[in-house]
Formats: sequence, structure tokens, C-alpha cells
Amino acid sequence: MGLLEQYMEHKKTFSRSGGASRPHSSSSSRPRTGGSSSSRPRTGLSSSAPRTFSARPPLGRSFNASRGGSASSRPRREFGNSGGKRGPRKGQHIDISKFINKTVITEEAVVFTPEHLFKDFIIDERLKTNILTKGYNEPTPIQDRVIPHILHGHDLVGIANTGTGKTAAFLIPLINKVLKNPKEKVIVMAPTRELAQQIEMELKGFVKGFKIFSVCCVGGAAIGRQISDLRYQHNFIIGTPGRIKDLIERKCINLALFKSVVLDEADRMLDMGFINDMRYMLALMPKERHTLFFSATLSPEIAVLIKDFLKEPVMVSVKTQDTSKNVEQDVVRIKAGEDKLEVLHDLLINPEFKKVLIFGRTKHGVEKLSVALGKKGFKAQSIHGDKNQGQRQRALDTFKKGLAQILVATDVAARGLDIAGVSHVINFDIPETYDDYVHRIGRTGRAGEKGKALTFI
Ligand code: ADP
Ligand code: MG
Repeated sequence: MGLLEQYMEHKKTFSRSGGASRPHSSSSSRPRTGGSSSSRPRTGLSSSAPRTFSARPPLGRSFNASRGGSASSRPRREFGNSGGKRGPRKGQHIDISKFINKTVITEEAVVFTPEHLFKDFIIDERLKTNILTKGYNEPTPIQDRVIPHILHGHDLVGIANTGTGKTAAFLIPLINKVLKNPKEKVIVMAPTRELAQQIEMELKGFVKGFKIFSVCCVGGAAIGRQISDLRYQHNFIIGTPGRIKDLIERKCINLALFKSVVLDEADRMLDMGFINDMRYMLALMPKERHTLFFSATLSPEIAVLIKDFLKEPVMVSVKTQDTSKNVEQDVVRIKAGEDKLEVLHDLLINPEFKKVLIFGRTKHGVEKLSVALGKKGFKAQSIHGDKNQGQRQRALDTFKKGLAQILVATDVAARGLDIAGVSHVINFDIPETYDDYVHRIGRTGRAGEKGKALTFI
């Protein structure tokens, strides 16, 4: 099957799965919340008894009942101009019913049985040991299906929801490649600093005890340090497109030496306007190379990039459903004259709001909200583009460790972050696109836990 046909196949499958997996409350269960009840908190959260039904995911099998499942399975652009360019997009277009899903599915576990175990892969024994030490007992679906192909050296496009283990899916075979040939160089591009750092952390876990080194090249961090680190032997560069490009122009990185490249969250990089940087860098790499794309969605723009830069790629898609089934979603209606901040306060004082990620639309708004919550006595941190690298990292760590109850974030800053145990996601500002919404609420209900998402309207 040609690439384009494969893509069309994917599209078909996607729209099928997209249709089947819209939030489960349709207009019949429209906003019962808010206006109706006078006592705060105003969400009908506890009243909704989980209904059980067994839904077999349209593609592949679900992994341990409910891993991942956070990214949109529909081609983007459903909400107008949500593709490549960053135009003025307003969340107001999104049908409110999409923010409500009270029928949280207690899924009858279709337990995923991987075809392989880590020990079955033809990889270095020391690497297998490190994988097990890290606590990974068996591969996730995407890992199960892509690792053999990458080990064979095929170009590959991996499509899977956020939180399904894509990082290890490419790191494991690429580390193995470096173990076989210590001169091998790999470059990994990711859309945000935090993601690049997460990838490097995962890499460090896998290469413990090996002489494999990496440099993390991200904006916001001092470039001098990165320049001097690049002078030392390294096998992996992990970074964001802007900074990598900068370092190429300063002649600190020579892409001609890199025979393997990973574009992680390719869809997001396109959204963030990195298309030209991505093309520029891929063009500087050797023609004979190993190219891997990972993405949560397969848009027409990605299909074009794939056609231009990958050679007969293997396409693997293990997408299951749309919004996380285990995230209970509801809206909080703000009445005229009511103070949003007060409503938020009344929610946050409830003990069940243990680890809350709050989304705001602008950097300024996010900072303001986090300061205001601090004044109200909450332990709140914030991450957004106006903070420098160190500040963002500290805020994130404090929240991850549970030392702050609240993290207020912009969409871009929070994209793809893997934070364990987020109890609630609150959309203080309506997301601009449904795709953003899906990514936001995907920060809770991870790894089989239940999560709750509230959207202020
Ligand atoms: P993605 O890139 O698809 O969003 P990540 O690579 O960030 O997903 O992985 C999500 C989480 O799952 C991480 O916390 C990671 O440590 C964990 N994880 C990945 N693979 C496995 C595995 N095989 N077994 C257990 N946990 C895993
Ligand atoms: Mg990832």
C-alpha cells in the first residue's frame, strides 16, 4: 500500500473512531450543573454514577484498561483554523456539551497482551536489565509494535495517544543502535523544553552504567553551557527546534554527522510554527539516514512532511479512543456578576482537589491567577513562556512532588507533561480548540487512574 493510501486508511479509521468516542453525554445530559444548584461547590460530580459498558476500542487494544487515551483521534481542524498557523482562534466556538462527560466508563478491561516481552527483543542484555530496573515489565502497545521495526532500521511513523510510552518506543531501539556502534549519533526534536528534558531523563534511566552521553539543547537555558557540553563526546542531542537551529548556525552542531533523527510530537511542532525549522534541519542531514516521526494525530500537513522526508516508512497506529474515558468532565457555569476567582476558591478548598492543574489562556493571565491564589492562601505555582527555564523547572518539580496543590499553566507550557496523580484539571479559561481541550484533560486520569476535568463557562 502506498503512503497516501495508508494515510487515507488512517483517516478513515480515525474518523470512525472519532465518531464513536465523542464525550458520552450528548445533548440529553446537558448542563445540569451550575445554575440549578445553589449550594457550592456547583459541580454535579458526585451525583453521576459510573455506568459500565464494554467498548472495544476501534483500533488495537487498550493497554491495561485505560492507559493514555488523551489525544484527539480526529483529524485536527475540526474547529476551523486549528492547523498549522497560529491565528486568532476562540474557544467560544466549541460546543459546551463537549466539555461534559459524566458517564465515566468503568471499562471492562480488555487487557492488552503484548506480542513481545522486553526479553524477546533482540537488544543488548544490559539494556534489558536497565529497562526492568526502571520498572517496565512489559511493552506498551506502541512499544510492542514499533520496536522491532526500528531495530530493523526502517523509517517509521508512530501514531499513539499521549501517555502511551512513545518515548521508550524510540529510545530503546536507538540506544541499542548506539551500543552496537558508539560512533552513532542521534538527534531528537521535541516541541517544548519540558518535553525535551523529560526525554533526556528517560534516556538517562535507560543508559545508566553505559558510556552513552547526551546534551539537552533547549531555549531558556544558558547557551554557553550547551556549547561547551557539545564539545564533549555525545551520542544523543535532545532539544527544541529553535535552539538546535541556533546551535547549528553557530557551528556547534553538525547535522551531517547524525544518521538518526526523531521528531517527537510532530503535530505539536507544526502547530507551534516550527515547520520551517524542521524542514531546514532535515535537509541538512545525510540522505541515508533513519527517520522516525511520532505524533498523536496524523494531519494532512504531517502527511506532506512524511512524504518529503521519510523513505517507505512503516506506519503504526495504536490509537484507541478520543478523550480519556476515565476522565469525568463537567462545566462550571459562572453567572453574570459572579467572580470566577471566588468560584475557583470554593472548589479548591474541597479536600478531593488534591493535585490540581489549572489552565489559563495567556501567560499574563496565568501569572496573575497564580499570584491571586497564593494571596488566598493556596500553594500555587505557575508555568508559562515568560518564566525562564529554571523557574519553570522549579515550579514543575514542586507540583510533581506534591509540595504545591496547584499548578497554573498555559497550553504550550503544559503540553505533553507527564505528571502523576493529577486529581483535577480546571479550565479557568476555555481552550481555544477542542484539540487543546483534549490535551489539557489528558493530564489527569493517566495510567488507569480516575480524573476529573472542569471547564468554566
Ligand atoms: P507519550 O510520549 O506517549 O506521551 P511517555 O513516553 O511520556 O508517553 O510515557 C508515559 C508514562 O508511561 C511515563 O511515565 C513512562 O515512564 C511510562 N511508561 C512508558 N513505557 C512503560 C512501560 N513499558 N511500562 C510501564 N510504564 C511505562
Ligand atoms: Mg511523548
